[in-house]
Amino acid sequence: MEPPADTSKTQEDALRQPSSTQPSQPAVRSLRELIELVSGRCLDINKPQEDSGLAQPVPFPFLGLVGQREMKLALLLALINPAIGGVLLIGARGTGKTTAVRSLLDLLPDVQRSNCFYGCTTEDIEAGGIETVCPDCAKKYQQGIPLESQDRVRLVELPLNAQLEDVIGRLDDRPSTHQRLRLKRGILAQSDQNLLYVDEVNLLSNEIIDAILDAAANGSYTVKRGAISATYRARLTLIGAMNPEEGDLRPQIMDRFGLRVVIHGLTNTAERIEAYQRVQLYRRNPHLLVSQFAQETEQVRQEIKAARQLLPQVTIPQSCTHTAIEIIRKLKIDSLRAEISLLEASRAHAAADGRCEVNLDDIQTVAPLALRLRQSPFMIRYLKSVSTAEKSLESAIRETIHNKEKVNG
Ligand SMILES: [Zn+2]
Repeated sequence: MEPPADTSKTQEDALRQPSSTQPSQPAVRSLRELIELVSGRCLDINKPQEDSGLAQPVPFPFLGLVGQREMKLALLLALINPAIGGVLLIGARGTGKTTAVRSLLDLLPDVQRSNCFYGCTTEDIEAGGIETVCPDCAKKYQQGIPLESQDRVRLVELPLNAQLEDVIGRLDDRPSTHQRLRLKRGILAQSDQNLLYVDEVNLLSNEIIDAILDAAANGSYTVKRGAISATYRARLTLIGAMNPEEGDLRPQIMDRFGLRVVIHGLTNTAERIEAYQRVQLYRRNPHLLVSQFAQETEQVRQEIKAARQLLPQVTIPQSCTHTAIEIIRKLKIDSLRAEISLLEASRAHAAADGRCEVNLDDIQTVAPLALRLRQSPFMIRYLKSVSTAEKSLESAIRETIHNKEKVNG
């Protein structure tokens, strides 16, 4: 019988082996398989555990999160395909929502980002001419100095006390001749090509959540302040979280999140123990924990990059679309967003699997994420009362006419 340490080594080898001999072949068949593999792995916690004494917090490794497979899948799909429309995590305090979201940063490929405070890009100039950028950037452009550079994806966390002007931007007091310079970029503009995390989304004011959802859906937004207006890009991956104990989310808002995950505490004792040990190790020496998942983290990063590149080629056969619609109709879901999220998530799932065509397994896997909490209890009650009223209306008309006919006849 082999000791447990060897088992985990075998798993690591299984991951490493094929990629070292055939670099183009992923070691595991799919992203889901990878999640399964690392979620169930036992860590060697007997390594030296001296305190790392770090001042800078290191995110908990995404692949080091125990269990919560559905949450991991939803977050990865949202990273692959922004058209899914974001993810809503629903769970009590202490179920690891925020930890999971913060851990996503290590998985994201770099992006090209504007070097300018005002967010000027070469694209702006190509689309609208040199006057669409600030004078500094106009000068740089003419001198052939690039306006963008490669940058890491950031996690923008919406502060709980944020005001609408913080979110969309406010007027700048400094005098300027340039329209965009008169507005200070808000949190949404800063979230362009980043992740925007909105915790306690159910406690936000309607105007703020509407502004965020509109910008996320359109990939841009326009701010108007008197005669001044400016349009900003907001190509962001939106992740919302809420604790249902602290209040409901309006059904219209709930409907606008593509995928929904209800997070439960771990029920398996072995998983709870494993989670506890990992948290202890993370507290003592976060780098050691991160290093134990470094290889798989890099692999998932590459897979997400590959899946993003493959996504535009992924098609949905008509039979799959029909099946998806049939499920939605069976559940009596009215919102058209249901099929958009379901089909786009299926495409992301196929892309993560390296396929160019969606199959029924994709639909089946992502359907609970895309369709749960879509049925509006209000609409069901409303439609029932309308139908009851319709029936009594019809019978009243029918009876009265019948009685008249009897009298006249
Ligand atoms: Zn500029």
